[in-house]
Amino acid sequence: MTELLQQAGYTPVEKPNSAAILIVNTCGFIQPARQESIQVLNELAQRKKANQVLIAAGCMVELHHQMLRNAIPGIDSFISTRRWMDIPKVVEDTLAKASPQRTQRHSARAIDPLVEDSVLRAAQQGASAYLKIADGCRRACAFCSIPLIKGNAVSRPPEAILKDAEALQKMGVCEINLIAQDTTDYGHDLGIKNGLIYLLERLVERVPDIPWIRVLYTYPSPAIEHLVACMVQHPQILKYLDIPLQHAHPGVLRRMNRPHNVDWVHKTLQKMRGSLPELTLRTTFIVGYPGETQKEFQTLLDFVSDIRFDHLGAFVYSFEPGTPGAALGDPIPPEIKQQRLEILMELQKKISLQNNRRLVGKTLDVLIEGSGDGLAVGRTYRDAPEIDGLVFINQEMSIGKLYPIQITGAMPHDLIGKYSKSANAPVR
Ligand code: SF4
Repeated sequence: MTELLQQAGYTPVEKPNSAAILIVNTCGFIQPARQESIQVLNELAQRKKANQVLIAAGCMVELHHQMLRNAIPGIDSFISTRRWMDIPKVVEDTLAKASPQRTQRHSARAIDPLVEDSVLRAAQQGASAYLKIADGCRRACAFCSIPLIKGNAVSRPPEAILKDAEALQKMGVCEINLIAQDTTDYGHDLGIKNGLIYLLERLVERVPDIPWIRVLYTYPSPAIEHLVACMVQHPQILKYLDIPLQHAHPGVLRRMNRPHNVDWVHKTLQKMRGSLPELTLRTTFIVGYPGETQKEFQTLLDFVSDIRFDHLGAFVYSFEPGTPGAALGDPIPPEIKQQRLEILMELQKKISLQNNRRLVGKTLDVLIEGSGDGLAVGRTYRDAPEIDGLVFINQEMSIGKLYPIQITGAMPHDLIGKYSKSANAPVR
């Protein structure tokens, strides 16, 4: 949307106060995200000046636009997540008051070929960028509202993604994070076999100057074995596997309508670690899923102790009306859910600290993302932007460059390092 609005002559500003058009890109997939979206919209609607307009965009508009319309009368227009490409027209109409309370709703097509050629589908933050490769999801996880919001998976054409990657390379980006609801499913709808690998192999040829290519949000399927083989073959593909497993008890996974062959997951992850010892593993779990017994929760804890993930995120189950699992209700009391979350995160904290301590003494490339007051902060390949850990270095360094950093200290989440003088030039 930013790209399209800039092409139409609008300029982004830092503060809502100085904006003529306020756009809130809502998130609607779990209750806490909806609450946050409503809070922000409410605050802006109340503070809005006479010459400002407020537009609600994103996932929440797709499923809950009527509720938003009733709850927050100060919203001038709505644009749903599937029609983001209509934003210049919605802005134009809203400013002209030609069509107040306009709503752009359901469209079967999540990706519009007309905008593929002209819009960079990447969100850049410094030397790092998220590059979208597909939108929507054809899985049917019982707890998840994303297929309701986004519809079926639609992959972007490989050439459009490669062109965006080339543009990012020209802009000096050091890291591309490939994203989709399920990256391992990339290309299925286009009839491309092993689509993710096909795409990665083209990417390493076309953007040789981008040293870090990271794949996020993979699904536990045989495709991950191909992905790890691709990491072995191409150093540019970071040895970082983000595999949201959601649970580790076959009974819970069955109720979640997820792959439930936990033995396969267990053996596959161990085998991958054997063939690729530097492989960093990140996962996500849900605790308090309907019917989760203490025994099933214990199975999850045992699995986590056994696999020893490098990074682990966890959520309490959020009841989502309209999802396939809604019929199961939400029977686990909130305090039990919270308690299980804390037990799981406490266990992971100890594991993460032990894993991080093993890195002390090693030298790793660090992408510097901030510098000032005698300090620099960055990330290694082991840390995805925004969700994983950081490395703190006690000297200022050039932002957006990769440096060899010797790890000197470890905390559960973050690391401390010093610039390795033996290699006194930035890697890049
Ligand atoms: S794979 Fe992810 S996005 Fe797709 S239905 Fe399952 S949880 Fe939702």
